Amino acid sequence: MESLGTNGLVLNEKLLFEHSDPGRKGYSLPPLDVEEAVLPEALMREEIAGLPELSEVDVVRHFTRLSTWNYGVDSGFYPLGSCTMKYNPKVNEVAARLPGFAAVHPHTPENLCQGALELMYHLQAALGEVSGFPAMSLQPSAGAQGEFTGMLVIRAYHDSLGAKRTKVLIPDTAHGTNPASAALCGYDVVPIPSGPDGVLTAEAVAQHMNEDVAALMVTNPNTLGLFESQIADICRVVHDKGGLVYCDGANLNALLGIARPGDMGIDVMHFNLHKTFATPHGGGGPGSGPVGVCEKLAPFLPGPVVKKEKGAYRLETPSGTIGRVKAFFGHFGVMVKAYAYIRTMGPEGLKRAAQMAVLNANYIRARLEGTYHLPYKGRSLHEVVFSDRDLGGDCHTLDLAKRLIDYGYHPPTIYFPLVVKGAIMIEPTETECVEVLDEFCEAMKAIAREAEDDPDRLHQAPTRTRVRRLDETAAARKPRLKWEG
Ligand SMILES: *Cc1c(COP(=O)(O)O)cnc(C)c1O
Repeated sequence: MESLGTNGLVLNEKLLFEHSDPGRKGYSLPPLDVEEAVLPEALMREEIAGLPELSEVDVVRHFTRLSTWNYGVDSGFYPLGSCTMKYNPKVNEVAARLPGFAAVHPHTPENLCQGALELMYHLQAALGEVSGFPAMSLQPSAGAQGEFTGMLVIRAYHDSLGAKRTKVLIPDTAHGTNPASAALCGYDVVPIPSGPDGVLTAEAVAQHMNEDVAALMVTNPNTLGLFESQIADICRVVHDKGGLVYCDGANLNALLGIARPGDMGIDVMHFNLHKTFATPHGGGGPGSGPVGVCEKLAPFLPGPVVKKEKGAYRLETPSGTIGRVKAFFGHFGVMVKAYAYIRTMGPEGLKRAAQMAVLNANYIRARLEGTYHLPYKGRSLHEVVFSDRDLGGDCHTLDLAKRLIDYGYHPPTIYFPLVVKGAIMIEPTETECVEVLDEFCEAMKAIAREAEDDPDRLHQAPTRTRVRRLDETAAARKPRLKWEG
């Protein structure tokens, strides 16, 4: 089979400091034709900080070569489960670069940035429509920060009632950021096992639900790619004891235009605009993680939120606010891209995106089931989780992932969710055509055959990359974050 792979054209690259040549420079300025300004003594350095000295072409080549090391959605299929690596249409970038949006200063007075506020207002409304929540804050800048914000809102609500609730229930199929967010807000996390089919039951929640519990945090669809079918009953159980339900909405790509978490009884949810609403992500940002809440939680949202009054848009801080969680208004550029995406797709387009995302995941499931072990047989939504149980030749999930790199693919998410031993979590998204899915499935099958016939190929992989297997433990424990010449 012909595959993309790598072909040895990935160039080696030294650090800029190692390229440095004293006296070289990358600028040419005209002679000074104004009086020289004298810097205050206190602001002057004793000696220059050993910065690299380079020409313009040195710098351009350095960064261009580095850019070829990067694998992204624009270079190929990127089935990283839970991360929704869909293709991001370039028209969204054009919108975000319009000078009125790109150059607006965060301190611009309200009356001079009505257009930006209008966009935020309509984005709040569109997200509310998609999710079924009447109030929205656009402040958080990532999914995990949205969770943190949502949990602070829940805490503020219970505090306002004078209730001392100390626990948060979290099923074992929740995303790993959920327990971290709950713990950061001072709660004790109580794990709840999902049922044998990977779905949380109302009975399991009822067993743990009491007046000490502030909230249940649930990821829906969960990290097995399964819809939490008992969610309405689960919400009732939690509400009956005065608790609230938090939904991790990062997997909203499966539900767009089809079902609304607000209608299911959820009280708080964060979005991942950078996943569901097609804005580029990975490598640390920028993202955007708005939080939607039900009516009674609206007063606690972080401010400012955008309101419309007598035809004008203005910023308002909710009365019982938890305070700001981000400087200024959040990641505005990401909001512009998400809004452009929502408007270009329209309600029908968003629904179709969810349908195609689910279809693509199920196509991969149908083609690979039988070759790879499928631990949970429930109906898959936007992603499918296999395991390495049936992989031959003492090969494991990590070997498969590394071998996929040789075939030219970004590996899926591996060893997550934790409820599956040797998990392989594949999320194709809606933006891939059937030829791409077929090629990927062929590669997966070829690797399964190699595991039987020539397992060393997997154990040695990747062999066609610039660097081979990295020592991941050393990278985590002894990171070298600083250049020492
Ligand atoms: C990605 C993701 C998060 C965290 O979002 P970030 O923007 O990376 O902080 C939380 N929950 C789920 C289910 C996710 O997929």
